[in-house]
Amino acid sequence: MNRILIIEDEEAIAELEKDYLELSDFEVCIKNNGTDGLDAALSENFDLIVLDLMLPGVDGFEICKEVREKKDIPIIMVSAKKEDIDKIRGLGLGADDYMTKPFSPSELVARVKAHLARYERLVSSSTVSNDIIEIRGIKIDKTARRVWIDGEEKAFTGKEFDLLTFLAEHPNHVYSKDELFREIWDMDSIGDIATVTVHIKKIREKVEYDSTNPQYIETIWGVGYRFKV
Ligand code: CA
Repeated sequence: MNRILIIEDEEAIAELEKDYLELSDFEVCIKNNGTDGLDAALSENFDLIVLDLMLPGVDGFEICKEVREKKDIPIIMVSAKKEDIDKIRGLGLGADDYMTKPFSPSELVARVKAHLARYERLVSSSTVSNDIIEIRGIKIDKTARRVWIDGEEKAFTGKEFDLLTFLAEHPNHVYSKDELFREIWDMDSIGDIATVTVHIKKIREKVEYDSTNPQYIETIWGVGYRFKV
C-alpha cells in the first residue's frame, strides 16, 4: 500500500484530503506543522508528499528543498495563493506538481495516482537489473562490464572480462584451455590456446593478491583452470 504524507496546518482540509485518499486505498499520515512534517518526511518512508506552502514552523519552501536533497519521491505543493504557486515554480525547488486551494479532493487523488504511476515507472526503469556476480572479494557487473576487486575498480580488456566472467559464472567447473578458447574467442580469430594462458596471467595480476598462489583462478595441472569458490 502506498503511503502518503500530508503536511497541512488547516486540519479540516487535511482531514478531507485524507478521507479521499484513504477511499482510494492509500495509507495517509497528517502532520499539522512544518517542523513535524519535515521530520516525518526525512525519517519515515513515504511514497508521495502533499505539501502546503504556508506552515507554522518550517515552511513548505524549506521542506521541499530539504526533502529533495535526500529523496526523489513525488511532491505536490499546494497553496491558497496563485501568486505563491507561480513563485515556487520559478524557484525550481523540485516539486513535481502544484495545486491552488481550494481544489476538489478527487482532483488531488487523480494527481496523486498519476505521479505515483510515473514515479514507479522511473524507478523500475532505472533499476533495470544489472546482472551482478559477487564471489568473495570480486564483484562483476555484467551489464556495465565493470569489475571491482575488494571494492576497487579494475580495468579489464574485452576478452579478459569475458574470460573472467565465464569462469566466475561456472564456479568450480574445470575447463581446458581448448574449451575456454572456443568459448571466448571466435573460431576464426587469430591465436591459439596459448592466448588463454596469456589472458589468465593478466587477469590474475589484477584479481589475485599473489599470482603464484591464486585464490580465485586455480590451475588444475594437465587439465585447465577453474574459478574456485
Ligand atoms: Ca497553510
